[in-house]
Amino acid sequence: MITEEDRFRDYLKKKGLKFTPERELILKEVFSCHKHFDVEELFRRLRKKDRAISRATIYRTLPLLIESGLIRDALRCRDRVYYEHVFGHPHHDHLLCIKCGRAIEFRDERIEKLQNEVCKKYGFEPIEHRLGIKGYCRKCQKKS
Ligand SMILES: [Zn+2]
Ligand SMILES: [Zn+2]
Ligand SMILES: [Zn+2]
Repeated sequence: MITEEDRFRDYLKKKGLKFTPERELILKEVFSCHKHFDVEELFRRLRKKDRAISRATIYRTLPLLIESGLIRDALRCRDRVYYEHVFGHPHHDHLLCIKCGRAIEFRDERIEKLQNEVCKKYGFEPIEHRLGIKGYCRKCQKKS
C-alpha cells in the first residue's frame, strides 16, 4: 500500500525537490490528525515539536502537499482557510457553522449525481468540486 510519505517523496522527486527534515515534520504532523486544520493550528502543533519552525515554512510547504494530491483547501470561513486530507479519504462535502466553526461532513449521492448531470448538459468534464454550505449548526441555533 502506498503511504502519504511515498506519495510525497515521489512528488518531490519529480519536481527535483528534497524530502527535507522540515517537510517530513510537516507531513507527519498534518497526517497525525484527521480533522480539518488551518495554518495557525498547525503552527501551534508544530511549535511544540520544533521551536525553530516558522509560519513561512508552513506556507511554503502546504502548496506542495496540495499539488501532490495529499490535502486540499476544503473550507473558507472568516478569512481562514481550512485544509483536510484527500489522500485516503473518500469524497465528501461540508456544512460549515459560521458561529462555532464546526464542519459537518456529508455525502449525498443525489447531489453528486445531479452535479454530474449539470456537467453533462454543458458538455463539461468534471475533475473535482467542493460544495460547502455555510450557516448555523443545531447547537448555535439554540443559543441565539
Ligand atoms: Zn460532492
Ligand atoms: Zn455552531
Ligand atoms: Zn471534510
